[in-house]
Amino acid sequence: MRHAVVVGAGIGGLTSAAALRQQGWAVTVLERAASIEPVGAGLAMAPNALRALDVIGVGDRVRKLSAFQGSAGIRTKTGKWLSRTSAEAAEARYGDPTVLLHRAVLAELLAEQAPEIELGTSVESVTPEGVVTTTKGDLEADLVVAADGIRSRIRQALFPALPGPVYAGVTSWRVIVEGTAPPAESWGDGQVFGMAPLAGNRVYAYATAPAPPGQTSPDELGELRRLFAGWHDPIPDLLARADPAAVIRTDIHSLETLPPAFHSGRVALVGDAAHAMTPNLGQGACQAIEDAVTLAYTTDLERYSAERMARTAPIVKRSRTIARMTAWRNPVAAAARNTMISMVGRLGTTAMLRQMDPILGWRPPVRP
Ligand SMILES: Cc1cc2nc3c(=O)[nH]c(=O)nc-3n(C[C@H](O)[C@H](O)[C@H](O)COP(=O)(O)OP(=O)(O)OC[C@H]3O[C@@H](n4cnc5c(N)ncnc54)[C@H](O)[C@@H]3O)c2cc1C
Repeated sequence: MRHAVVVGAGIGGLTSAAALRQQGWAVTVLERAASIEPVGAGLAMAPNALRALDVIGVGDRVRKLSAFQGSAGIRTKTGKWLSRTSAEAAEARYGDPTVLLHRAVLAELLAEQAPEIELGTSVESVTPEGVVTTTKGDLEADLVVAADGIRSRIRQALFPALPGPVYAGVTSWRVIVEGTAPPAESWGDGQVFGMAPLAGNRVYAYATAPAPPGQTSPDELGELRRLFAGWHDPIPDLLARADPAAVIRTDIHSLETLPPAFHSGRVALVGDAAHAMTPNLGQGACQAIEDAVTLAYTTDLERYSAERMARTAPIVKRSRTIARMTAWRNPVAAAARNTMISMVGRLGTTAMLRQMDPILGWRPPVRP
């Protein structure tokens, strides 16, 4: 039986383990953390990821545990709509709308499909020949899946000259709040505030703002309340109800230069290890899921590499462009940007969705 070692039990690693196992591989999953409880809050799963999840048999459970978003769009900080999209129109076009669920719920569903995870096992090095050195001994594999995240040690070992992740100039906050709020993303002069319903009468709120790298505050919720005071309803109210201990702050990094290949010898890079992107398109985990399913059905790693590089490079670039646009602090530039978005918005839902076809219209290599 062919043996695969998957390094990392994030969304990319767990999906890879589930998909490879389904394809008849013996799979060992190594995770350096003591538990798979992921850091994070809400996670948007777009139609392309749902199709990939259908292949490993968890798509319908994800749909069931997610909240339907209804109509959403982009607003100004005063609440004026710049563009609107409709979940119904997305469903009609792609078979599914983008849905939202808690990251831990997805991790749990995926872990049920994967073999037992060897927690507390850190991978120290991997060779292209498939030798994996861990804190608990060596393993040999026919395939090593490097799903060890944005700071991938394996990527660095395989491609030592490749520059590491670059700070995008913005930090992010995520928090889950009880109650409801209309889904939308509001753009100010450098700041963004997003709200989306989660199942169980909860709202996933996220925000970004320009900040020096590594900066933190002893009162992150206070920082959010200060930044978004005076923004449209129900943002201040939502923040007034949030639990300070539930706020997660993360600086946004991405790989500006992608590796020259997503494989080397028997090792394949998956997810953020291959193509960490800014979260503006909500596609980082979705692309990790696509990678995983493609890898399990593509035995030829050169083909996997070529296919996934061509697929993800434009998404990384597009995401970075949006990140830069949202971070514009100059009110004149931000107003010009808003005018442009509202002009595109006036073209209507179909025209706006059409721009997303290359991303959301993706089909997996096999039918579920
Ligand atoms: C603010 C924010 C919002 C986001 N929102 C969305 C969204 O809505 N939708 C979406 O699709 N994406 C979103 N993303 C992106 C998404 O979170 C990532 O792309 C995704 O989690 C990457 O998964 P991964 O499995 O590749 O890496 P990770 O989740 O980073 O997992 C890597 C795993 O490898 C383990 N590991 C690392 N090194 C070793 C080692 N040496 N040995 C053993 N184990 C190791 C780590 O402990 C970790 O468990 C968002 C990102 C951010 C920052």
